[in-house]
Amino acid sequence: MRSHPDACPGAVELHQAADGGLARIRVPGGTLSAAQWDVVRLAALELGTGFLEFTSRANLQIRGLADGLELGARLRAAGLLPSATHERMRNIIAAPLESNQDLVDALDAALCADPVLASLPGRFLVTVGASVSGLGGDFGLVDDVLLLAGTDTGVRVDDPVDAVVTAAGLFQEMRGSAWRLSEVDGGVRKITEHFGAVDGPRITPAVTPVAPSPTTPGVPLGRLDAHQLPGVPVRLTPWRGLVVPPGTDTSGLITDPASPWHGVSACTGRPGCAKSLSDVRADARAWLGTPHSLPVHWSGCSRRCGRPQGDVIEFVATGDGYRRIAGTAGDEEIR
Ligand code: SF4
Repeated sequence: MRSHPDACPGAVELHQAADGGLARIRVPGGTLSAAQWDVVRLAALELGTGFLEFTSRANLQIRGLADGLELGARLRAAGLLPSATHERMRNIIAAPLESNQDLVDALDAALCADPVLASLPGRFLVTVGASVSGLGGDFGLVDDVLLLAGTDTGVRVDDPVDAVVTAAGLFQEMRGSAWRLSEVDGGVRKITEHFGAVDGPRITPAVTPVAPSPTTPGVPLGRLDAHQLPGVPVRLTPWRGLVVPPGTDTSGLITDPASPWHGVSACTGRPGCAKSLSDVRADARAWLGTPHSLPVHWSGCSRRCGRPQGDVIEFVATGDGYRRIAGTAGDEEIR
């Protein structure tokens, strides 16, 4: 059981990183109008380091901020900070190629309207859609299926919004100091009993990444120069990419599955993270072009922040090189 509250940053309550204040901007469902996207881009350029970081939960981060006040005011004016009390728990990942933003918006509004849910942890996560159902949400919706901690226990729902709000309330009641439903002893069972389970076939949660293309570009190492994509409506994906309209100028982004950048991710590393034992982004760049069959993730320390779900080859800095971890193949030292 956790002994301390989670420290996930918000858009106003910043995390103090080695390179200044770090804000995480929740974007439930990943959809930003052209005007909203420009607000975030300009905030990164005018208040931060000039870059936007894409997270594995399809959120955005701005680094190098003096404080969160000006950013908060801009986001509020753009409709991107609808609740001061529920800001950090607004984590909803939606299948980015499906038409589901209306459901996400209804879900977000209902979760934010319940005062009890304000103290859900910043790690709380809801997924919407089959292609993101394996991303480890506390709750997941796939048609009428309500997944609990990433498992189909047989719960079927008529009103998905009401079901998630009810389930989130039950989680909050029983969670103690746990951050995730999977950490609560008997949590999944109790929520299943509350709703009742049907007999019959179960679905298997899955992760189906969107392949890079000119309309679904990936962002190299999840870090975008905020001068890029001005005036474009976007949908963020949990694979550190976007969905953009046809004809958008995607120079410098990953638009081809054969790109050496495709499938390569890295944590912040030096100089942004004080814990980092190396400049993982520079090391990943230098390594680029080495053939790899699985996604590859580089970390500056053993916390392994931002590691993608599923099978992945990892390079974890040791202070004296990197430890390579490849699924069941075990560890080997790389120097
Ligand atoms: S994995 Fe370590 S070095 Fe990388 S961002 Fe997380 S804490 Fe920092």
